[in-house]
Amino acid sequence: MLTAEEQGWLPDFIFREGRFHGGVALFADTSGRITRFSSEPDDLRKASRLPNRAILPGLVNVHSHAFQRAIRGRTEERTGTSRDSFWTWREAMYHAANSLSPDDIYEVARMAFVEMLASGITAVGEFHYVHHAPGGAFYDNPNLLAEQVLQAAQATGIRIALLRTAYARAGWRKDPNPSQARFITPRVEDFIRHTDDLRALTANRFAPDAAWVGIAPHSIRALPVEYLRESIACARGRGMKIHMHVSEQPAEIQACLGEYGMRPVELLHRYELLGGDFTGIHAIHITDEEIYHLAQSRARIGACPTTERNLGDGIGPADKWSEAGVPTCFGSDSNIQIDLLEDARQLEYHLRLERIERAILAPDAQPESLARRLFESATQTGADSIGAPGGSLTEGRPADFFTIDLNDLSIAGAGPESLLTNVVFSGSRTAIRDVYVAGRQVIQDGRHALQDEVVQKFSRTQRRLWERE
Ligand SMILES: [Zn+2]
Repeated sequence: MLTAEEQGWLPDFIFREGRFHGGVALFADTSGRITRFSSEPDDLRKASRLPNRAILPGLVNVHSHAFQRAIRGRTEERTGTSRDSFWTWREAMYHAANSLSPDDIYEVARMAFVEMLASGITAVGEFHYVHHAPGGAFYDNPNLLAEQVLQAAQATGIRIALLRTAYARAGWRKDPNPSQARFITPRVEDFIRHTDDLRALTANRFAPDAAWVGIAPHSIRALPVEYLRESIACARGRGMKIHMHVSEQPAEIQACLGEYGMRPVELLHRYELLGGDFTGIHAIHITDEEIYHLAQSRARIGACPTTERNLGDGIGPADKWSEAGVPTCFGSDSNIQIDLLEDARQLEYHLRLERIERAILAPDAQPESLARRLFESATQTGADSIGAPGGSLTEGRPADFFTIDLNDLSIAGAGPESLLTNVVFSGSRTAIRDVYVAGRQVIQDGRHALQDEVVQKFSRTQRRLWERE
């Protein structure tokens, strides 16, 4: 019999140490830590048998703006006679950002997090920048909206790094934009104080590896350099992770060149702001020299291909940065789609279309080396980026994992030698059946326990938000 302190699972295959293993059970203690893997017949009998299933480590989504789930499907038409772009999309996003109440923020975040869990994501880096009341006044509790997001994560069961975003201005030589009032904290002292308050609150209310706080200076565009330096110095002093939008749009590069005579990553390098704790989100329009600086500093790049293709941002030179040794992780960003394995395959596919070549990101000619690299980006590199405890199935780490149905139409017929490639390149969400965070089941047979209620409340919020339709 199983001891009361232990639970175990025996699928057909478990993915660990870079490959699938058969005839092995995974055991975790009541705190949700993996205690051991065993092939002993006695142990195999003790574990819950999961026939036609494989277990893989939970995916880590390093970059989400949960509230943007509310604009899904509302921005895919032309808005006027001129060409649509990132900047016209942004107007629709601002409409949502300025209409959501604290309760709406909670409901929309729950919706996004339930979908993340159902797609195998067990930890998220939430780049949170809607802080204030409409018009820009601080709430009595300046972290009210961040708390709503943290509570949404707790209610749904996803781990969260709340990356508290600093935003101070519309941009270089740009007049203040009233649509950004909810994001803006004019003084860095206030930003640091509010961030410290949120850290204290999070430490009090949540288990340390369920929710924690990092910082996210929004972008070079949104912050004067002194604000950027002070906020990053403060985060480093406290051992927090640092995320920042970097080189997403050509206009941002031009503004940075105009203001500082340098490109964004060059500027970050010059002021010694890069580091192993830094993840640059997007990094699309970067030079070889900038890639060199990212590699030297051991920074990571958070690529968001499903959003980048949706917004018309461009194609990140992932082959160049991978060759230089900059690790990639993935984010669902605008949440136009929540499917991290789609992000993984698109990183490669975009390059194929551009270069008229195949298997561009494969590190070598070994079987499954491309799928392994992309999957490691979606798991371990993501965990390193946001400071999450998961990332791989290893003794002592949390039992954060998802199961896939080996008979699902999207991957049926794959053997252990081709299963990872099938999952990464062809797996559909229908293949993902069960999801566990810290050994606790949050998705059962493709559904979340709160799913009906979450969908109903989200739909109500959407009707109100878009009622002029
Ligand atoms: Zn973003």
